[in-house]
Amino acid sequence: MDLTIHQNCPSCGADIELSEADRLIRCPYCDVQNFMVTRGALRFVLPDKAPDHILRRNMLYAPYLRFKGNIYYCKGKYLKHKVVDTTQLGTSGTVLPPSLGLRPQAMPVSLVTDAVEGHFLRQTIKAKTLLERAAQLTVIASEDIDAPFYHRAYIGETVSCIYLPLYLQNDLLYDAVTNTALGKETLVGEMRAQSMHYKAVWSPHFLATLCPRCGDTLSGAHDSLILSCYNCQSCWEETKNGFQSISWNAVVSNNKGMYYLPFWKLSVRADGIEMQTFADFLRITNQPLVIQQRHKELALHFFLPAFKLRPSTFLRLGKNMTLSQERLPQSEQQMPKRMHPVTLKRIEALQALKSVLAEAAVSKRKLLPKLPIVRFHSMGTELIYLPFKDKGHDFVQEQTGIPLAQAVLRFGRKL
Ligand SMILES: [Zn+2]
Ligand SMILES: [Zn+2]
Repeated sequence: MDLTIHQNCPSCGADIELSEADRLIRCPYCDVQNFMVTRGALRFVLPDKAPDHILRRNMLYAPYLRFKGNIYYCKGKYLKHKVVDTTQLGTSGTVLPPSLGLRPQAMPVSLVTDAVEGHFLRQTIKAKTLLERAAQLTVIASEDIDAPFYHRAYIGETVSCIYLPLYLQNDLLYDAVTNTALGKETLVGEMRAQSMHYKAVWSPHFLATLCPRCGDTLSGAHDSLILSCYNCQSCWEETKNGFQSISWNAVVSNNKGMYYLPFWKLSVRADGIEMQTFADFLRITNQPLVIQQRHKELALHFFLPAFKLRPSTFLRLGKNMTLSQERLPQSEQQMPKRMHPVTLKRIEALQALKSVLAEAAVSKRKLLPKLPIVRFHSMGTELIYLPFKDKGHDFVQEQTGIPLAQAVLRFGRKL
């Protein structure tokens, strides 16, 4: 499911409609561009149909945490992945539904603003606990492998909070979306005592999109996490203190019309497993080739997609690019014109390392049991743009011949 968000333009106040993944917002009315920043999860509220005699300031809002993302796990000799998209009750209540089910998809939700009066119930169950629970449900529901778990990771997840509006009438707690009685809530006094009102930090804020180095306008797609300055050839990532420059490079093609896809080039140090060079990686994953001296001289880097893809494609592309790294020529700082937006954070690429290692292993039975003791430490990351040739249905990486279906790439932007 994809949530639709209504937000006022920070420059002219017009109502603009956004999708959940949008970051770089160009207002269609005043044409001003802003970068949307959130602190913590975005907070939404379901529309209520409470009767008129119920005062809005007496309403209660129960928090449900929504997770949308992929879970990767290694069990026995299998590497598996599943899509998780659930909402789970984040507070303790005796009559509240444990999940919102399909409701957030069936109706428009709006961002919580200061216009929403009433009491927001505190989230008393940790997000991590809820995510574990969601993962357990997702995995157990479809799992018949009787073997130990070796690894689990969540990649590309969006966490948001959706409030269910409630009210009290004749001592009964009512769901204000459907106007049905949920029952007698014994904890209601406690809930209300610990509740809070709207806080300004819950709302997104906006950064002007000017290059901190040269003052020119930064560019990017609507869902770009990284913005680029073509004037001074720099790339910027949003951090707590505004935009921070990140190191980047491109493998520049002599052929015109290439489409450049971003990858996180991760230098890592591994503990628990002997893996310092590219030769080690080939050996540990049992690649069917003779290890040469040049492999031993090549430092190991992982090349993982910096954009969202379906789990199976993400793993395959990350594996193939990492295995083919010696075929990539020297990169340089020349910013390509046609490039795909970065939609996957570097931290998430780091979390995917073990899964990509597992994917690369020819003999999973041998490698997977070692995963629990493996620790990767980041020794540096760089964004690298690689040229892909447009072949109609596929994009094909110029130096390695690795293909990627264009439909898969388009679908990834909706994940
Ligand atoms: Zn505007
Ligand atoms: Zn600049």
